[in-house]
Amino acid sequence: MPPTSPPTAVTPSPQTSPSGSGKTKVTMMDQFNAAKKEAGDAIVFFRMGDFYELFGTDAEVASRELGIALTSRSKGADAMPMAGVPVKSMEPYLMRLVRAGFKVAVCEQMSDPRTTKGIVDRGIVRVVTAGTITEEDELDARSSNYLAALMVDGKRASVAYVDLSTGRAAASADLDLARVTDEIARIAPAELLVPEDLPRTAPDLAEALQLDLGPRITWREPWHFSRESALRVLKDQFRVGTLEGFGFDDQDLAVCAAGAAIDYARETQRGGCDHLLRLEKIDTGQHLVLDRATRSCLELTQTQRGARREGSLLDAIDSTLTPMGGRMMRDWLLSPLRDVERIVYRQRGVAEFVDGPFLREDVRSLLNGVLDIERLVAKLSTGRVNARDLNALSGSLRIVTPLRTKIAGVYSKALGDLSDALDPLTEVVESIDMTIVESPPMTIKEGGVIAAGISSDLDELRQIAGDGKAWMARFQGDAIERYGIPGLKIGFNSVFGYYLEVPRGQVKQVPTDFVRKQTLKNAERYITPELKEFEDKVLRAEERAKDMEYEIFNALKDQVAAEIPRILGTARSLAEIDVLAGLAQTAATQRYCAPTVDGGDTIEIKDGRHPVIEAMQKDVTFVPNDTTLDRKKRSVGIITGPNMAGKSTYIRQTALIVLLAQIGSFVPASSAKVGVCDRIFTRIGSADDLSRGASTFMVEMVEIANILNNASTKSLVVLDEVGRGTSTFDGLALAWAIVEHMHDVVRARTLFATHYHQLTELSDKLTGVHNLSVAVREWDDEIVFLHQIIEGGTDRSYGIQVARLAGVPDALIGRAREVLRDIETDSDDLGARILQKRHVPDAALLPPGMQLGLFDNEPSQLEKTLAEIDVESTTPMEALQLLAKLKELSR
Ligand code: ADP
Ligand code: MG
Repeated sequence: MPPTSPPTAVTPSPQTSPSGSGKTKVTMMDQFNAAKKEAGDAIVFFRMGDFYELFGTDAEVASRELGIALTSRSKGADAMPMAGVPVKSMEPYLMRLVRAGFKVAVCEQMSDPRTTKGIVDRGIVRVVTAGTITEEDELDARSSNYLAALMVDGKRASVAYVDLSTGRAAASADLDLARVTDEIARIAPAELLVPEDLPRTAPDLAEALQLDLGPRITWREPWHFSRESALRVLKDQFRVGTLEGFGFDDQDLAVCAAGAAIDYARETQRGGCDHLLRLEKIDTGQHLVLDRATRSCLELTQTQRGARREGSLLDAIDSTLTPMGGRMMRDWLLSPLRDVERIVYRQRGVAEFVDGPFLREDVRSLLNGVLDIERLVAKLSTGRVNARDLNALSGSLRIVTPLRTKIAGVYSKALGDLSDALDPLTEVVESIDMTIVESPPMTIKEGGVIAAGISSDLDELRQIAGDGKAWMARFQGDAIERYGIPGLKIGFNSVFGYYLEVPRGQVKQVPTDFVRKQTLKNAERYITPELKEFEDKVLRAEERAKDMEYEIFNALKDQVAAEIPRILGTARSLAEIDVLAGLAQTAATQRYCAPTVDGGDTIEIKDGRHPVIEAMQKDVTFVPNDTTLDRKKRSVGIITGPNMAGKSTYIRQTALIVLLAQIGSFVPASSAKVGVCDRIFTRIGSADDLSRGASTFMVEMVEIANILNNASTKSLVVLDEVGRGTSTFDGLALAWAIVEHMHDVVRARTLFATHYHQLTELSDKLTGVHNLSVAVREWDDEIVFLHQIIEGGTDRSYGIQVARLAGVPDALIGRAREVLRDIETDSDDLGARILQKRHVPDAALLPPGMQLGLFDNEPSQLEKTLAEIDVESTTPMEALQLLAKLKELSR
């Protein structure tokens, strides 16, 4: 793409002060117009004294969104809508606008109005957008707030993402364009930067992103994504001459994506990005790939209904204690590993904490007091840190030394490495503890922050201020006695400083050298030269002490900021220790076992349980079940059984156990062997997804096409009631053909739960297909669910019994039975008839990739059309059209 030349760097450009010169008189509205121009599409909060004022359309938007009063600035031709929020309570207003999808530019007064003659300078100090929030109050402690950027070139793409609230920056190795939406869904960015020309270069992707993210997309001019601009930004940000150290080649698309993200971060923060220290390379090839549908189906981080965390896998297994640990736990869950060695490395770390309950308890009680170090560091870097934050930081770092001692004797390499990576940062902790008082105020300019003994100058000023006050108390006592005015009091106001107040009834006693300043109803107020002399001294000392405290605080802040890389490194190690210990805690309390993870083809689970359902239904004992899958005799398992029997639970628990094993966790089973998977695919038939504007059956088929095209022999595929979204016969036909295709062509390890009991006949023909069913006890025409998976299929669906259990009226149940008998006499041998038509050699023995004709006997037009379909190259849209055609032919 030809980069248009970048405009001049965007920096705060306060108006040149007109004060004194008197030549070009800049008005406040000139300043506003300049700020508005610079802010682009952002709403401008324009500081005027104690308020941020909004003008014009900004005011109208804010009035509508925030419910604040809309007034008018001046009248007549100059009239302009105006609204304002108080400076003291601006944060909630600002955040509400940002949450609603707006950007807000904060335009501050750049000089002190008290000391400025004429109009004060103003300039934009910061632009707040959804992806660049750093206020921890506004963020969920346990998830990251990502600003992401997308770069596309032909069929390749990369996504980079930055969390300004924690300092994490990462970019994907170049990806296939088809994988982009999944990767973006994994990252779940609060804001995504997209080049403005994407609708032209990749229209389908642009449309899909619009649908998914809508207002979270920020369109940027394409030059921000140019290699030239990106390299300049990245080299400057990371102070490197090349990105090779991070594992990137200058030619990678990741460079463009990361450059665009960091460029925007710096533009909005106006500096304050010092905590972005390195760029992590995310090689999705190293990870177990989970597409969006699978993540949502398996309810990894939120439930499908209601999008709640409670009820998700994350909620069931997350026992971390620190916010950093919580975020890392979430990241691990969303990108499990594929490399056996790395998995085992983590697992040994977990095992050490499982085997050592005392070690675990000690470590966890230390971690319990650790606050969000990453977000404190972000505040430090963006200049919004106060004394309490520094105390919080030192309090959190203080546990590092004892923690290192605790894990000094460990044997696992993971914990050993983590212990080595912990930096106690003793000087930082000591400086903070020495310099700042125990409970400082929120403000850093009003004094009371710096401890005694840090600066002799400060101590002296404080002494003078303190002495002055004692002197005044004495002065008051003396005056009362000397002049015989018992009601005399010393007071203070901002207009004329300290004064002596005498009740009206005693003014006769007042000596002549008192100067009267103010008359009240019941009293007179006076000053004396002696009083004023001391006042000067005291007040000046107080002011100077405050200034000096502020200086000392800033020096300390700079000293701590210089150690940001070490602090963040330690925070990351603490997070990882927290995750390992947390997984161990879950394993110990939930009776999980250490799985054997290897590069083989077998998945063998004994007494597997569903981690979430088991945890949620406290009063029912969960019935454990076994799973055996391999790539020869048991590559495809067909699970039949009545509704509510536990089919879905069973196939999902298998996927979840594999996934947990691949993040390095223990698993809910008595033993497990997991041959690593490259991908897990999960699909539920007729999953309602109307919000995305697609018909349910269409969505189902799109997802099936995705699996058939992308699953490999190393994948695990879990299909639940696929083919349900259409009429019984074409649903069955599709389900049937899918099982054959999985078995013959894709050859991934597959579990298929279905209510089409006809599918069980496939096991007779296909060597790798085996049947499973869920045991039920029939009792006087009623059924009892045993939730026990047994070998062998079932030839019934028990739908009518389930309907009866659910309370459907008896008369209706009776009629349904009659109808069923009629239908079954017609169609019971359906499966057998289809099989007769399939004169094919045992497909499992054929080389992979070879597709078999389904129907070899005098094919009808319908069958010919079916046979000609090349599923792998059929787009979802074509599939739908084909289906319509097939239906047409079948009539
Ligand atoms: P199906 O898919 O066969 O209709 P589900 O898997 O949805 O059935 O299970 C229905 C309910 O049965 C679950 O919500 C759960 O409460 C219970 N259940 C399933 N499997 C088990 C089990 N192994 N042990 C105990 N209860 C189970
Ligand atoms: Mg089900």
